[in-house]
Amino acid sequence: MASADRLTVAEGLARIRGLTPRLGVETIATSEANARILAETVHARSNVPRFACSAMDGYALRSADTEGASEGAPVALALNPPLSTGAAATTLAPGTATPISTGAPIPPGADTVLVRERATIEGDRLRLPAPIAAWTNIRAEGEDVARGAVLGTGGVRLDPERIGMLAAAGIGQVLVRCRPRLGYFSTGDELAESIAGSASAIADANRPMIAALAEDAGLRLLDLGHASDSAADIAARIERADGRVDILCSSGGVSGGAFDFVRACIEARQGEIAFHGLEMRPGKPLLFARLRSGTLYFGLPGNPVAALVGFRFFVLEAVRTALGLPPEAGQAILHGEAEGQGPTRFLRVCLDADGDGAPRYDASLDQRSHILSSAARADGWLRSDDANGTSTFFPKRSGRLT
Ligand code: AMP
Ligand code: MG
Repeated sequence: MASADRLTVAEGLARIRGLTPRLGVETIATSEANARILAETVHARSNVPRFACSAMDGYALRSADTEGASEGAPVALALNPPLSTGAAATTLAPGTATPISTGAPIPPGADTVLVRERATIEGDRLRLPAPIAAWTNIRAEGEDVARGAVLGTGGVRLDPERIGMLAAAGIGQVLVRCRPRLGYFSTGDELAESIAGSASAIADANRPMIAALAEDAGLRLLDLGHASDSAADIAARIERADGRVDILCSSGGVSGGAFDFVRACIEARQGEIAFHGLEMRPGKPLLFARLRSGTLYFGLPGNPVAALVGFRFFVLEAVRTALGLPPEAGQAILHGEAEGQGPTRFLRVCLDADGDGAPRYDASLDQRSHILSSAARADGWLRSDDANGTSTFFPKRSGRLT
């Protein structure tokens, strides 16, 4: 490909964002919604706590009954039967106390709770050698969450804490973005699932790697296996997934060599090639297209680290867009002088610290596109753009997206 056909990384990302539609929505149980992206504003259905309740195991009583109590003239309150959590409370008669457990509703009439450890029981009476202030050890109705309060808005990723809060406030179901479906196949006559029994086969590293990346990101994977370097085989796999997945991905077969059929197969289906080739290293031959069904297509280069960069930084950017998430910003670490026109480099880096404890990004690892061992060892990526003099750090993985 002529360099004139190639986009910069920024242009490529912008094109991906522009062509990626927002995913649909579905209603699911709150208990199943961890890491999902909320697609509605959720209001609390109930107060939390639902009613004024005891903060301690102890005795519910009327503070007024304890006024004037002292060591010399203690107050004695008659004990009622105990009140457990979940029991309906009856009105507390003056001059009495009711054993109460943490979380149980404060009986009408009671306005304070004496902690069990501080109580002295004499026969069937509670002895109080000092007054007890009102509203001690009582959790107020709605003090955690008030009925009607906004508990989440569209675009928020649900996490375990928010799921607990939603459940407590009576939200049993939530409307969330659908999880993207990803189809993937490897290409290459030289590849085999297992190299046992063959002297020349190369183990397919990309398929398990991409499956693991997809799992990490929370995608649903349609594993389309491994295609030989034949237009018919590649076309059959595209046919199988087209329209059934949101994003279809393959690795290999996009470098423009005699055995590289991916682009031709897309064009034969009247797919729209959005770009083929980006000004970057590794992963320059990356191809991005939209099939007529609307399924997006990423042709990742075959070299494993090029495939990794293509997936980590470009496929997942489409996933973010589909979920309504903002672009991944990374952590800008340098904004220097523009140094010309070089390609964007995605460097494998190890993180350590200089003498002052400031982070240092060590890019002395082997940066060649077939070297996976350095990617396995690295702590993250440094995206280095000479053209505008910026460097941005990205963690190894962007984490669960949905
Ligand atoms: P290609 O992009 O098809 O020209 O492949 C470039 C290089 O990556 C070749 O050396 C391939 O053998 C290698 N390669 C392609 N696909 C895979 C894969 N799935 N796993 C490991 N290496 C691969
Ligand atoms: Mg190949």
